[in-house]
Amino acid sequence: MGNNTEVNKGVYVLIHEFDAVIVGAGGAGLYAALEASKTAKTAVLSKLYPTRSHTGAAQGGIGAALGNVDEDTPEWHAFDTIKGGDYLVDQQAAKILAEEAVQAVYDLENRGLPFSRTPSGRIDQRRFGGHTRNFGEAPVHRSCYAADRTGNMILQTLYQQCIKNNVHFFDEFQVLELLLDGARVVGVVVFELASGEVHVFKAKAVMFATGGFGRMFRITSNAHANTGDGPAVAMRAGIPLEDMEFFQFHPTGIKDMGILITEGVRGEGGILLNNAGERFMERYAPTLLDLAPRDMVSRAIMTEIQEGRGIRGDRKIDDYVMLDASRLGREVVESKIPDIADFCKTYLAVDPAQKPMPVQPTAHYAMGGIPTDIDGRVATADTVYEGLYAAGECACVSVHGANRLGTNSLVDLVVFGRRAGRHIAEYVTGAAMPSVAPDAGDAMRERIAKLKTESGDHPGPIYGRMQSTMMENVGVYRDEARMTRGLQDVKDLREAFKAVRVQDKESRFNTEVLAILELENLLDLSLITAASALNRTESRGAHSRVDHAERRDEEWLKHTLAQIENDDVTISYKSVDTSIWEPKPRTY
Ligand SMILES: Cc1cc2nc3c(=O)[nH]c(=O)nc-3n(C[C@H](O)[C@H](O)[C@H](O)COP(=O)(O)OP(=O)(O)OC[C@H]3O[C@@H](n4cnc5c(N)ncnc54)[C@H](O)[C@@H]3O)c2cc1C
Repeated sequence: MGNNTEVNKGVYVLIHEFDAVIVGAGGAGLYAALEASKTAKTAVLSKLYPTRSHTGAAQGGIGAALGNVDEDTPEWHAFDTIKGGDYLVDQQAAKILAEEAVQAVYDLENRGLPFSRTPSGRIDQRRFGGHTRNFGEAPVHRSCYAADRTGNMILQTLYQQCIKNNVHFFDEFQVLELLLDGARVVGVVVFELASGEVHVFKAKAVMFATGGFGRMFRITSNAHANTGDGPAVAMRAGIPLEDMEFFQFHPTGIKDMGILITEGVRGEGGILLNNAGERFMERYAPTLLDLAPRDMVSRAIMTEIQEGRGIRGDRKIDDYVMLDASRLGREVVESKIPDIADFCKTYLAVDPAQKPMPVQPTAHYAMGGIPTDIDGRVATADTVYEGLYAAGECACVSVHGANRLGTNSLVDLVVFGRRAGRHIAEYVTGAAMPSVAPDAGDAMRERIAKLKTESGDHPGPIYGRMQSTMMENVGVYRDEARMTRGLQDVKDLREAFKAVRVQDKESRFNTEVLAILELENLLDLSLITAASALNRTESRGAHSRVDHAERRDEEWLKHTLAQIENDDVTISYKSVDTSIWEPKPRTY
């Protein structure tokens, strides 16, 4: 189907023009849209209905040094963030994160977010892993929260504000391709679920806020839609991805299911126990105990399991430990973690006010992603892309380095989503509308037609094998032999993927077409994750190698930039900003 002219089918337009196109309607996308729409005609494209974005699942809270419960400063918050990230964090960016977090939380409050309150009526705060007072002395109450529904409240608040500001929403529109002219953005190619049509959006500025990609692992806290579309699409347009070897496993997913039990449970005083009923974190992190950073707690759990102290005690990947919140009492459980209590009753028939919860590490958060500067502009070591932005989990600023602290993602969304939105608002006022090639979108139309007209394999088995091999070979503990196997498996799966076709030939609501294209994204990101991990011969943060157990700053204090070329991953590097604190060994 040719697309040389604007196609009008009644109300139907296939070529659209906006000053700013924001891809993604989670916290990062909505905050950016709110700011950009002050000057720019702004569209938000989202493959989900906006309030179904994964931000809505965030439970525990948003970190900011308000000092409402304990004395606190943004400087301590920045330090904890950098140390928690095992010094791979860009330090000026972390300073901005911690400083702007305070105003960001008050902005959310002013926009109507119903935070939980202290008895005196201020925003209440709770403790979270790795957040400390006075550079590591003891845990500090820093996480602002709305019961265990903080993310949902953020999403609802921002969505309402966007509607009020006349942001144009295109729901169930899925971006498949990024259009660049050299290092300048010109638009995106998009699939509309309801019609099966391929649209082209022309824009002066495009921002990716597509969230994470935990679905590459078998056990994950992430929603089905978290398939890394933004990073994969950007990478295929020629942009290398940063620090993809660093993927966070959250210590407490519900056994076998991966559904998250917020760290807020431990923040409120819950503790981890092994099969002997021992509080094993005493041996791994004597000062912070159960509130050590997530990478350390996940490793502690896996070590307990591997040494036979997991429940079942088979030393198998599906062994688990217990998270005990019953010591908090029913009133705390029901007021501070009501949704968690519901999950446990529904999925496990366990009432956490009475009995401990069976948990195991679950793939949770992508520290890596699309490289950006502190204004959300996509930037590699030597190129700043014009008009192209990214923020939120799909981006790498990098404020999380090798390991993100709990509550710092929601801060990242709000702080850097807002900064990117502001930059866009200014940028579009001086920029001209680019033109797109007349055949833009045609290649994608042909690709989709081919998926439907030819017969071939079902994608299901490839999806399952990818998740298993990534879980087993590129998980919490890594070594050369396993990662080499994982990498080869993913290469084989990418080959097998070429024979995949859809079984459903319909145009309207063809979710199978999208599932296949999402699987392709996950396969590309798995390849880059495995190759970047194999390449980094040290242990740092969430990247923990049994065969290279030490952190080696002389060689490895640098960001990875990785790209797929001819089915292989090529790697280059970018320096780390260590301008405030000198890297030190991490102890907790
Ligand atoms: C269960 C859970 C609990 C969490 N709890 C916390 C917490 O308490 N505190 C904290 O700081 N962090 C928490 N996190 C992490 C945090 O919630 C996420 O990192 C963050 O919400 C991601 O926000 P985002 O705006 O980047 O993307 P998301 O909220 O994931 O939104 C992504 C958006 O992109 C859209 N999209 C994706 N691909 C496409 C495409 N191809 N075309 C069009 N649209 C697309 C989707 O429709 C969606 O609107 C939690 C994460 C999980 C999974």
